Amino acid sequence: MPSHGWFDVVKFSDGVTMIAEPGHYEDVKSYLVEGERDVAVLDTGMGVGDFAGLVQSLSDRDPIVVHSHAHFDHIGASFRFQRVLVHPTEADDLRSGYPNERFRPWFGAEYLNEIPLPGGFNPDVAEISGKEPTAMLNHDDTIDLGGRTLEVFHTPGHSPGGITLLDREARALFPGDAVYAGPMFSFRPYSDPVAYRESLRLLAELADVVDVVYPSHNDVPLTPQNIKRMHKAYEEIWAGRTPDESTAERDIFQYDSFSFWLAPGRYGTVAE
Ligand SMILES: [Zn+2]
Ligand SMILES: [Zn+2]
Repeated sequence: MPSHGWFDVVKFSDGVTMIAEPGHYEDVKSYLVEGERDVAVLDTGMGVGDFAGLVQSLSDRDPIVVHSHAHFDHIGASFRFQRVLVHPTEADDLRSGYPNERFRPWFGAEYLNEIPLPGGFNPDVAEISGKEPTAMLNHDDTIDLGGRTLEVFHTPGHSPGGITLLDREARALFPGDAVYAGPMFSFRPYSDPVAYRESLRLLAELADVVDVVYPSHNDVPLTPQNIKRMHKAYEEIWAGRTPDESTAERDIFQYDSFSFWLAPGRYGTVAE
């Protein structure tokens, strides 16, 4: 992978470029999707390094930031862009940004590996500036990049304003944090395991019209079959599968490349 300091950049064949941040355990990914006129910037990373400068060096098209959702690790450089879209339920999170007292704890030694933080980034004072969105993203919207269109699907559960982008022509899906390899945290107060069930059902349907899936964390790319398996597993859990591990706070269901973490009493027949 060509290294750009803090960032790794991988170009895929269909005009999709991944910007990864492997130095942090979150292993977040952002994407550029090139149209003829505009480039969609799917999330802006975790606020370390010059993400906006990197985007400018990678594409001469007009950037339009499209947010999968507004958790801090996806909005790091949004304030550096002019056009920024987000689902209305998370517009306030984007406006608020992320203050130093909440941001700083994410840079403890337990979250970092041997890749050094870029010079000039000081976790003791760093914060993510807020950004007023220029427009709202809603289910059924389309984003016209010139010769390339992204369809917007509202896929809440992980967070209330989660969206998935579909490039039907390129047969590519960008599910944000709705689907990735690794632990799916659905026990947090902001998670909605009931809404997530419906989102996974929709994603399993969309899996039929794509060949490649670009998630916002961990292994990339995933396959449509990965989504189908996650959907099947989640339905199995709702049908009463016994957790592999259980505490007062969460039930953990372990599968091979992923796991579901759910709050007891908030999923399954009890929640219906
Ligand atoms: Zn998230
Ligand atoms: Zn995330």
